[in-house]
Amino acid sequence: MIREANLLTSSAMRWRQSRESQNVQDYRGRATGGGGGMRLGLGGIVLAVIAYFVGGPQLVMSLFSGAGSAPTSEAPVQPGAPADEAGQFVSHVLGDTEETWNAIFSQAGREYPPPYLALFDEGINTGCGSASSAAGPFYCPNDRKLYIDLTFFRQLETEFAAQGDFAKAYVIAHEVGHHVQNLLGTLEQARAAQGRASGDANAIQVRVELQADCYAGIWAHYADSQRQLVEAGDIDEALNAAASVGDDTIQKRVQGQVNQESFTHGSAAQRQQWFRKGYSSGSVDDCNTFQ
Ligand SMILES: [Zn+2]
Repeated sequence: MIREANLLTSSAMRWRQSRESQNVQDYRGRATGGGGGMRLGLGGIVLAVIAYFVGGPQLVMSLFSGAGSAPTSEAPVQPGAPADEAGQFVSHVLGDTEETWNAIFSQAGREYPPPYLALFDEGINTGCGSASSAAGPFYCPNDRKLYIDLTFFRQLETEFAAQGDFAKAYVIAHEVGHHVQNLLGTLEQARAAQGRASGDANAIQVRVELQADCYAGIWAHYADSQRQLVEAGDIDEALNAAASVGDDTIQKRVQGQVNQESFTHGSAAQRQQWFRKGYSSGSVDDCNTFQ
């Protein structure tokens, strides 16, 4: 009960002043796949391709179920903007990422096809395989969709101790960052590099993830400087969230020790550093984590 109260009072970000996206696909309350069977098989392979928000053994293990079967997406639902408070928040933040990336792409003489964002409960079939909620938020490059079960936002506050609307907005902006990487061909290149014998799959994954954090920072830069959505304390909320989902933070909490070779998303310090870099510069060129 106390937790619910906190959810309502911790908002600072002026998200209602942003434009709503009409690209949210709401699967909540529908019968969807993916959550039931816990047969693990594809996991390791699919993981390298999928861009998700947090690593950590407990999440990696439960990421994808349904071994061997070809990925089938859910039947499409009409995209729009949900009417409930949580759904509204998501569609506003997604809308503001569209503002940001539309402008950046058009400056480069390119078009920005925005991603869909699927809200779901428990489990869902995606173009990348079936996923359970335990996977946390992720982006599937095959169907160009972001997937979020909103219970993760509560988990962010309780398990990861990351409070505030801006922490949640950072999660969405990070996944949108993966969509941008997909459009720019970065995910494809990373996947190819991971497939080569010399490629260190985890190290490459870390660079992909840190770049998505930097891109989330770019969104924050424009949300702040162009649309004044950011209030005092918001950037700290994002930086705190970035630290709380650092691989070292999670590993320390879950297994009591840190094993750097198994990092997939980068340390707390790295995730903060790259978000901050994107936020202060607002430039894609400053987000080259592969150098
Ligand atoms: Zn990610």
